[in-house]
Amino acid sequence: MKRRIKKSVIKNGIIFLGALILLIIVVSIIRTIMYHRTDKYKLKQLGYNDEEIKIIETMSSDNIKYILNNDYNELVDDFKNEKYFLDKNLETYLNYQKENSSLSLATIVSIVNVGANNDWYTNTKETDLTKNELILVNKYHYLPQDYEPSDIIDVSLRYAYSDNKTSESILEHYKEMFNAASRDGITLIISSAYRTSEEQEETYNYYLKNKGEDYVKSHASLKRHSEHETGLAFDILTPNYNISNFDKSPAFEWLKNNSYKYGFIMRYPEGKENITGYEYEPWHYRYVGDVAKTIYDENITFDEYYAYYVEG
Ligand SMILES: [Zn+2]
Repeated sequence: MKRRIKKSVIKNGIIFLGALILLIIVVSIIRTIMYHRTDKYKLKQLGYNDEEIKIIETMSSDNIKYILNNDYNELVDDFKNEKYFLDKNLETYLNYQKENSSLSLATIVSIVNVGANNDWYTNTKETDLTKNELILVNKYHYLPQDYEPSDIIDVSLRYAYSDNKTSESILEHYKEMFNAASRDGITLIISSAYRTSEEQEETYNYYLKNKGEDYVKSHASLKRHSEHETGLAFDILTPNYNISNFDKSPAFEWLKNNSYKYGFIMRYPEGKENITGYEYEPWHYRYVGDVAKTIYDENITFDEYYAYYVEG
């Protein structure tokens, strides 16, 4: 009797042990199968190391999917380390880089962020008017057809050539800048400020007729695409200089170093033509308020600022 009980205990023990081992094997097989399905495993197979995987895992699922479907690309890390990297644009950076491999990654990030990887005036959208002094108007953002700033007033001859109007909200800031420049012996004068949509169209057509299509593309704006229609921008000159030599004037030097203190930025700087879509315009200033300091300190354009800090 004792022996039989002993025998059945051993038998049950063996069955239990067998079942346990089987369970362990099944669980480990399932775990292995599950692990092979994880992004981490797939990324490892593609050649990414743990550190890179950690970075990739912070990205959006769309970008992870993109990386998984493409060969190992060390540019992913490099782009991710760029200051103005936007996760949503990774795929476009990589594609644009393939066709523009001579450009620096920083330039590619800037171009793609502002949409300048598209032809000028394509992929356009209506600008967000609720941004007030940060309204973005460029080759990809236009003002609504019926938009007219509500606070346009005349600028007196003390500050501007005749027949100039601007947004009342920025005139005080301009006067402050004007007075500060005066104290430093600099005379600023507004040569062209607010334009209606019709006036902008006339300007555009004038240049198109007289200078041709190539010139107009990088020098003038289509109506509804010009900052002059917002009342927040104007062209500044100084006596004895014109637009062709304004950047040799002491007034330009003064504006370069001081305009941001009053909320103004040079809107189309030299070397940023592929981002702004405009040739260097040392005379064109735009009011953006407090963020002028960030734009000045970081040496970026308003388009880049907007893409990263406002929309990004
Ligand atoms: Zn201008």
